[in-house]
Amino acid sequence: MPISRREFVAASAAGAALAGLDTTAFAAGSGEPDVIVIGAGLSGLEAALTLEENGLKVLVLEGRRRVGGRVYTLFDVPGHPEVGGNSIANAYGRCIAAAKKYGVEIVNLAPRLFANRAGQEFFLGGEHIDLKDWANHPRNPFVGDARKLPPWTWADSMFKQHMPFKDLENWYDANHAQYDMSVHDFLASKGASDAMIRLGYDTNISYGTTSHDVSLLQQAFSDHWQNVNRGAVMGFARNGAASVGSAPAAATPGAAPAANPMANLLVGVFKDGNQNLPIAMAKHLKGDILYGRRVTAISTGDSGASVTCSDGKVYRAKAVVCTMPFSTLRDVAIDPLPPSLQHKAIRTLGYIPITQFHLVSKKPFWEKDGMSPSMWTDGPLGVVLAQRPGNDPNEVTSLTVWCRGQNGLFVDRFGIEDGKRLIISEFERLRPASKGLLSVAATHSWTTDPFSAGDWAIFQPGQVRELRASIAVPHKRLFFAGEHTAVGSRGMEGALESGERASLEVMASLG
Ligand SMILES: Cc1cc2nc3c(=O)[nH]c(=O)nc-3n(C[C@H](O)[C@H](O)[C@H](O)COP(=O)(O)OP(=O)(O)OC[C@H]3O[C@@H](n4cnc5c(N)ncnc54)[C@H](O)[C@@H]3O)c2cc1C
Repeated sequence: MPISRREFVAASAAGAALAGLDTTAFAAGSGEPDVIVIGAGLSGLEAALTLEENGLKVLVLEGRRRVGGRVYTLFDVPGHPEVGGNSIANAYGRCIAAAKKYGVEIVNLAPRLFANRAGQEFFLGGEHIDLKDWANHPRNPFVGDARKLPPWTWADSMFKQHMPFKDLENWYDANHAQYDMSVHDFLASKGASDAMIRLGYDTNISYGTTSHDVSLLQQAFSDHWQNVNRGAVMGFARNGAASVGSAPAAATPGAAPAANPMANLLVGVFKDGNQNLPIAMAKHLKGDILYGRRVTAISTGDSGASVTCSDGKVYRAKAVVCTMPFSTLRDVAIDPLPPSLQHKAIRTLGYIPITQFHLVSKKPFWEKDGMSPSMWTDGPLGVVLAQRPGNDPNEVTSLTVWCRGQNGLFVDRFGIEDGKRLIISEFERLRPASKGLLSVAATHSWTTDPFSAGDWAIFQPGQVRELRASIAVPHKRLFFAGEHTAVGSRGMEGALESGERASLEVMASLG
């Protein structure tokens, strides 16, 4: 028997139950809502809660059978590893406030991360390279002092030296439009060879598939967000584990540097799993969340809008807030069509491909081969991050394999079962001590996931100048939110920023 969201949430106190939801909740049916919010990720929940707090009646339509969207915790894997949003840092003011407001504890992983500075192993072409040998290694494509840098720090050092403007927070300002060029062309203009860019930027890329499809202004935005967080967010940093070693200048923006620069550093996670934040937010909603409602059409007018789902049901309201990533909104028929630049943005905004494998090991093979369990490779394994969520910094509960960019697309081609076999055999090839010990507890491709069709949004060369200003402009009674519309912050914080902005726009429009 179907149950209402309120009954459902009450019946499923444990996050694990909600994550595995396969029952569709349905509307209590008490009349037409004022606002429909599409998407129960952080941006949708923030918008819905803000609208409710201001007296509006809200209905949330969600395609998946869980809340959280790209915040997704594996509650049934040891240590509850994250498939999506990993960590927050000092500038995540809205996330920190939301955790407090909805009763979710933030755990600061910084002390235990710094207690374990084992770093990560470096493999190129299947060969293990000791970093002390790297400067003189024949595979090293860099020149001068850059030869001494691990490849995963090279691009950051190039941007630090050469980013052509300082006010990175104004990354989308028309004054910087001339820099809406590919990262590849920019690095090449500073003397970088293709081999340097391939190893130092494209391998385990953080945005797009290669440096050719990332705008330098996208990079500036990301660097701005790293800077305000003092370069300290491990899980979201471009280089994985090794970035933990880069000390922040001061933990709180504007504050005087602490005597110990690590003292106030926040590498925050939500206790027992990041998905507990959206789960707690959903519990505070008065209105319903309808799960399993894949939106296929949106119609908008001057006084109202309607949303059609794949089961043919039509929902009407005075306004609709759409938080779907543009990668999935592309499949939705919008009537009338948005203005041409907004339509073009919906059709073409870039998204990074990411696929993850979560491995558990029967025994700590890293004790046998004497290396760190974490790795940075140029092969299918991409970046391997040892998860140490507990109080014991030496306890590794699982290993997350991050296949990003072109490598993510590559492993996706194998399908799930062959993909798992590929990852295990590659692992055993690089680390023979792991033979027979590893199993894949979970895998997830954000690229083939029909409700994300990619991971975070990427402005491609030329898109900031041409499309950025049009992305979130209300289309009659259709309003846009989601991380791809944020301009001051990124990731989970960007999602909340966007939900807040869209809810204010709706309230202004409804009067
Ligand atoms: C691997 C990974 C690591 C990350 N690491 C970090 C990190 O360390 N720090 C950080 O700040 N951020 C991180 N992020 C990014 C962060 O998780 C996202 O930016 C944020 O959660 C996006 O929220 P959102 O509400 O904008 O979008 P979403 O969470 O994607 O919400 C959109 C919702 O719309 C729904 N939807 C889509 N299509 C339809 C449809 N047709 N019909 C109905 N519903 C639909 C989706 O199911 C989803 O629930 C990471 C993300 C990933 C995937």
